Amino acid sequence: MLTCQPLTNHCFALLTALCLLLPIQLAHAEQPLIHHELIVTLYPDRHHIEVRDAIRLPEAWQSQKLSFLLSDKLQISAMEGRTMTDMARVVDPTQQGGFHTYQLAPYLPNEQEKQEKAPIPQLILRYSGKIESTMQQPVSGYRGGATISTGGIGEEGVFLGGGTGWVPYFEGALNHFRLTVIMPQGWRSLSQGKPLSHTQERDRMVDVWEAPHPTEAIYLHAGQWHRYKKQVTTRHGQQPLLLAVLLRQADEPLAQSYLQDTLDYINLYEDLIGPYSYDKFVLAENFWETGYGMPSFTLLGSQVIRLPFIRTSSYPHEILHNWWGNGVFVDYAQGNWSEGLTAYMADYLLQEHNHQGVLYRHTTLSKYAGFVRRENDFPLTHFTSRHDGASQAIGYGKGLMFFHMLRRHLGDKMFIQGLRSFYQQYRFKAASYADLRRTFEQISSMDLRPFFTQWTQRAGAPELELEATSIQPDGRGWRLNFTLLQKQPGAPYQLQVPLQVTLQGESQPQPLVIPMQRLNQTVSRYFSSRPERLDIDPAFDLFRTLHAGEIPPTLSALFGHPHILAVLPSKGPLAEQQALRRLVHAWGLSSVQDDQLTNLPTDQALWILGQHNRFREQALAPLRNQGVEVVHNQITLAGKPYELAKHSVVTVTRQGKQPIAWLSPQADQIDALIRKLPHYGAYGHLLFAGDSSENLLRGKWSQTQYPLSVVFDAQGQASTAQSAPTLAPELSLTAP
Ligand SMILES: [Zn+2]
Repeated sequence: MLTCQPLTNHCFALLTALCLLLPIQLAHAEQPLIHHELIVTLYPDRHHIEVRDAIRLPEAWQSQKLSFLLSDKLQISAMEGRTMTDMARVVDPTQQGGFHTYQLAPYLPNEQEKQEKAPIPQLILRYSGKIESTMQQPVSGYRGGATISTGGIGEEGVFLGGGTGWVPYFEGALNHFRLTVIMPQGWRSLSQGKPLSHTQERDRMVDVWEAPHPTEAIYLHAGQWHRYKKQVTTRHGQQPLLLAVLLRQADEPLAQSYLQDTLDYINLYEDLIGPYSYDKFVLAENFWETGYGMPSFTLLGSQVIRLPFIRTSSYPHEILHNWWGNGVFVDYAQGNWSEGLTAYMADYLLQEHNHQGVLYRHTTLSKYAGFVRRENDFPLTHFTSRHDGASQAIGYGKGLMFFHMLRRHLGDKMFIQGLRSFYQQYRFKAASYADLRRTFEQISSMDLRPFFTQWTQRAGAPELELEATSIQPDGRGWRLNFTLLQKQPGAPYQLQVPLQVTLQGESQPQPLVIPMQRLNQTVSRYFSSRPERLDIDPAFDLFRTLHAGEIPPTLSALFGHPHILAVLPSKGPLAEQQALRRLVHAWGLSSVQDDQLTNLPTDQALWILGQHNRFREQALAPLRNQGVEVVHNQITLAGKPYELAKHSVVTVTRQGKQPIAWLSPQADQIDALIRKLPHYGAYGHLLFAGDSSENLLRGKWSQTQYPLSVVFDAQGQASTAQSAPTLAPELSLTAP
């Protein structure tokens, strides 16, 4: 099962377009609030929008010069309440579109207005323009990148978000609003806030929304949907909550199962964190493939919405963003903590409930090892949103491991208390890692500065090694000695290293935690019985760089490698040879033909391409102990034979540290493989149907080396363990 959905992204990508333009330095104190009274008419057939926005600015701003941004696709036809002094074009560095910046003179009341104490006038803007949809299906790059779109207006649907610049944007302020949307018959709109009405007026539909809570960006989505709804009361809710599912094609069973899931997840997160902040939650089917989480609604693409695993991964993730990201906002200038925390409490936690927590953490660490090098690493405080495998492995992966270690450091009860307090204190305000630290310090009375500093402000990870393990009789019992080393460059990390010791005659190992402050630490412990086995961090509770032997080879090692060589076949069907050239070109790989090499190079990650590649055997031989074999054009994978002529096959192995993949494709499916394979980074072998490129099999190799585990024989001789450790069952995080 996929543990991370490559198709998903979050609203933050849209905000980032603006963040890049003008880095927002959000004050932690109260942010100024702006009220918008918006009347919007949408003309989807002409990609056109007309807006009247009556803006109530903070009183303190009235005597100041002001500036705001608006999309350069929109033209202002009238302005009341202020005088424009200048206008300039700003180029968006993300090239998603341009903006105009408008300068306004201060408001200076004349004598009569002063004497009459006339109310300060609103700033009223009328503007209109054509915003065409620039939607594209996310295009996968070799390193897992995806394009983002800032939205548009068209007959397939309307999406206007923060990055579109469709509402005047005043830096550093939050917004609340009332929004009237006028649309063609049969259309419906969706925004954050409460739906006040949905009526037909002559041949047009009119929706009214009210959003009383502060929000960073104002969203307007519209389409022709089938609507399914349910009024519910959550376990902690005072008010009835409206749940709705909006689908482009009628599908009652799908809608009903989502409505039930929505209620279950909102109950789960209310139990863990605190009350849900909004009056409704809507799942809307988007008109391109997304996984966006907005305040009180989510937009999932038509394919995503129907993938069964989404309901236990992306869907709770988007719902949880109503607490983290859209409940407590992110102070982006100091690092986006919300993705790590949301991934930890949604994607990860549901796996932990299924007793798959260890596997999830191992996969998370494997991705970090696969994608992140010294050159592309950065601290968590520099993460804003993901744009490739490395930024995802840091912002989501290291982020979630940070919260896992914090939870272990504090204990479950204090961890939950801290999160509740953080939510209560910072709801509808921007917060940073420093705010998280202060909250957890208040709850725990601990000094958490060293912990937060090393994990959020430092790039990289500790690399642990185990040395000089021995046991010897000691009085009536035994003494276990070993040395733990930190091999990463730079200062030592302050670690609480979890380990376990299995004693003779005992079925369950004894768990221990060893504090480690130095690069080199010798440990000596007395036990009443003879130790038979020692395992350092056996459940992957520490964020650390895994040893090559701890990571069964996966495709991510190839997709993240800085030096990659593709070896093309000189033999085999012409169509296959041409298809493989296309793949090499599409992925931008260096290549060489197999007949030009005597030996394979050893300093690059290798793609051995083609069923008849002369180096095929070298890519497959190391997998024999995993049951892989090619005999008479049949490959045996996971115990079953498959005909190579009817399937596309990928296997990954490793020689020392060098990852080597073999791909035997069906030539006419090459475009699908080019697109799909970068999304299967977590796997060691893949099998696709030859005629449809449907994935038939995906799997991971079993781990065969345990460099941080040692076994002792009856004579006390130590050797590296060859089998997996026995792990105590984990208790899942639940509300205390
Ligand atoms: Zn997210």
